[in-house]
Amino acid sequence: MGDIGNDPVVVIGLGRFGTALALELAERGTEVLAVDSRPKIVQSLSGKLTHIVTADATDIDALRDLGVAEFYRAVVAIGSDLEASILTTSLLVELEVDDIWAKAVSHQHARILERIGARHIVLPEHDMGERVAHLVSGRMLDYVEVDSNFALVKTRPPKELVGVPLGETKLRSRHGVTVVCVKSPGEEFTYAATDTVLQYGDVIVIAGPIGKVERFAERT
Ligand code: ADP
Repeated sequence: MGDIGNDPVVVIGLGRFGTALALELAERGTEVLAVDSRPKIVQSLSGKLTHIVTADATDIDALRDLGVAEFYRAVVAIGSDLEASILTTSLLVELEVDDIWAKAVSHQHARILERIGARHIVLPEHDMGERVAHLVSGRMLDYVEVDSNFALVKTRPPKELVGVPLGETKLRSRHGVTVVCVKSPGEEFTYAATDTVLQYGDVIVIAGPIGKVERFAERT
């Protein structure tokens, strides 16, 4: 197989999540086969997606007719109808689609999808809720968890970092975090270096273990 990252993708379920996903993939040049059981939604998106069909994804013959078994990657973006989500995912496993992504609406739902063979589970509402909690309660301008205990945080420099070259601040040994990049007002982000001197008004991105970046952001 050539460039797996750009292989065609089947997107099943065109609610808000599935539609945004399918349109973004298509926009980025990935071939998408989009499937939904509601003719109305298929019709409304037909001008924007080249390959879009009305079909019931819980029907294995319908999936076979669409050639879904030939795909390496599929996303099950059905959320609220648990039965349809679980059945569709199990049929994709039966059709031996290798790389199955599935959206879950709860941790129990996620566990079931994982057990039946989905390789990646996405919990969009849960993850977004967690992320927004960081933004609402703290001084963070943005927050992305890149692993279960590691995050990237966009924030402002605390007083102690202003006016001193980053190399002299002993940031990593004292706080366990590192400054990845810096943006001065009206400029683009640039990589942070040991001789970078932060100013008030700058925006920085820091990386580190979650507890440490949280504590660090409290100092700003
Ligand atoms: P969101 O919260 O992202 O809007 P929903 O769960 O509300 O997600 O939407 C899921 C989509 O999946 C709907 O457009 C629905 O018509 C579609 N869908 C549900 N069951 C099936 C099925 N068996 N086959 C194909 N599409 C389905």
